Amino acid sequence: MYGKKIESNITIRNSLDQLSRWAAAKGDYKKAFEYQSEYLLLKDSLLNQENNKAVNELKLIYDTEKKDNEIKLLEKEKSLRDLRVSQQEQLLYLSKYKASQQQAQLALAEEKQKRSYLEADQLSTELSNQKLQKEKFLAENTILLKDQVLKTTSLIRQKQYRNAAILFSCLVIFIAFLLFNRYTSKKKYSVILENKNLIIEKERQNAIKSEEYKSQFLANMSHEIRTPLHAITGMINVLREKNPRDDQKAYLNVMSKSSESLIGILNNVLDLSKIEAGKVVFEKNVFSPEECLRNVTNILHAGASDKQLRLETQFIDLPERVMGDEVRLTQILINIISNAIKFTEKGGVFITCKATPIKGRESDRLTLTFSIRDTGIGIDPALLSSIFEKFVQADASTTRKFGGTGLGLSISKQLIELQNGTITVMSEKGKGSDFIISIPYSVAGIEDAIILENYKSKAVALNGLSILYAEDNPYNQIVARETLAYVAEGISIDMAENGKIAIEKMKSNNYDMVLMDLQMPVMDGYEAASFIRKNLPSPKNQVPIIAVSANATHEEKMKCMHAGMNDYLPKPFHPKDIVDVLVKALPETQNTHS
Ligand code: ADP
Repeated sequence: MYGKKIESNITIRNSLDQLSRWAAAKGDYKKAFEYQSEYLLLKDSLLNQENNKAVNELKLIYDTEKKDNEIKLLEKEKSLRDLRVSQQEQLLYLSKYKASQQQAQLALAEEKQKRSYLEADQLSTELSNQKLQKEKFLAENTILLKDQVLKTTSLIRQKQYRNAAILFSCLVIFIAFLLFNRYTSKKKYSVILENKNLIIEKERQNAIKSEEYKSQFLANMSHEIRTPLHAITGMINVLREKNPRDDQKAYLNVMSKSSESLIGILNNVLDLSKIEAGKVVFEKNVFSPEECLRNVTNILHAGASDKQLRLETQFIDLPERVMGDEVRLTQILINIISNAIKFTEKGGVFITCKATPIKGRESDRLTLTFSIRDTGIGIDPALLSSIFEKFVQADASTTRKFGGTGLGLSISKQLIELQNGTITVMSEKGKGSDFIISIPYSVAGIEDAIILENYKSKAVALNGLSILYAEDNPYNQIVARETLAYVAEGISIDMAENGKIAIEKMKSNNYDMVLMDLQMPVMDGYEAASFIRKNLPSPKNQVPIIAVSANATHEEKMKCMHAGMNDYLPKPFHPKDIVDVLVKALPETQNTHS
């Protein structure tokens, strides 16, 4: 109806449009305008109507769709509800099924339990039956078993006793064997040990003996060589005092030099054995270092002038006196300076002696440094360090050309080092050598210096002395007599050939001093000295006895002191030495006289 109305309105509108056109064609514009306005109004209302219609249609469509959706939603909800219902039903069925299953299981378990109860009952009855049977069997067998046990225990015990007895006897045998073995091995080892001890003791004794033999041999050799040497040098000195002719003087010089060199070799060998045995004792005497060096150069001067060599000495800052072993210093200087002269053909030997105070010590300590420089053959640098070893010479031709033993430097070095000194050498082959010796000494006081007076003036104190000299060697007797007559006038000297004669002479005479040789026939010096000390009446038993011996060893000195002797004079002696020894013994002499 609404549509029909719109259609009629469309027709009216169209008519109004034609009427307006028609009025306009007729020129009635007013009417045309009125028709046009009506036409437009209608047109608008028509448009509105159409729009409303479209809106209504759309609304209808929307509503319908909405309704459809709602229906679909309702359907979905319904199907969901149905699904839930079916699910719940399913769950119900499932739980029912499970319950039925549990019930079945329960029934099965009950069945099983019942069956196991039954089985257990059966088993227990069976067990009790078995137990009963067992008990019955046990009861039947116990008696039998008891008997059996008794029998077996007695058997076991018997067996055990037997085993124990066997074991015990084995043990006893074993212990006995061990003890026997121990005893025999102990015996064996003690025998071996005893034998070894015997061997060791024998070896020790042999070593001691061989050491004794060695020192005895050296002592004997020294004595045997020194005694005739002493006689030779003594006779040379005596002959020199007898105004010999010039040609005789020359012979005497040769003799003197030969005997000196023999004494040198002998001294070297003895020194070496003493050093090796650690028996070197250094004296502490007051001496002038300048005088000591001058004495050495005086001794060696002839050798240097024979070769037309200059022998020059220089003294720097030397003290008047020092305290030390002059004899050893002399020995060292003679060794080094005579080497310098020996190995120099042209030029000379230049010696300087310098004193330097030792810093940081007491002011009385100083070092004496000697430099002995020569213009001789020099030493190969490769051999410089070995020349201080024993029996070493720079080359084989040295012995042939210059002689020597190769001991001098070794002994000198050891003597220097034993006094805390040093020796070094600088040398160039063909250009010469410079030996530098440094030895520490202490400076001597004035009162010490008095001792160093000239021995001849010192010997004045010996005038009028009566001496008995026990000496078997007639040559040595002459040397002693002549030497004493030469050093001090008015000394009377009586000779005895052996210890026994010396004792007899002492009994019937009065002597101020006794000089006693040690090795004599009939009665030796030790025996004679101890007899005098023990058996002669006072004051004769207190007379100073001075041993005179060529056996210049430390043991020898000790032995003399044990026999009651007062001092020791080694042979061959210098006149100064005998004066020193006699003067030293003098106060005791005076005591015995007073
Ligand atoms: P010896 O002189 O008896 O052979 P030393 O021990 O005194 O023995 O000297 C050992 C060696 O050292 C000598 O043989 C000599 O070869 C060498 N010698 C020592 N002093 C000098 C020197 N002043 N010049 C050259 N060689 C020297």
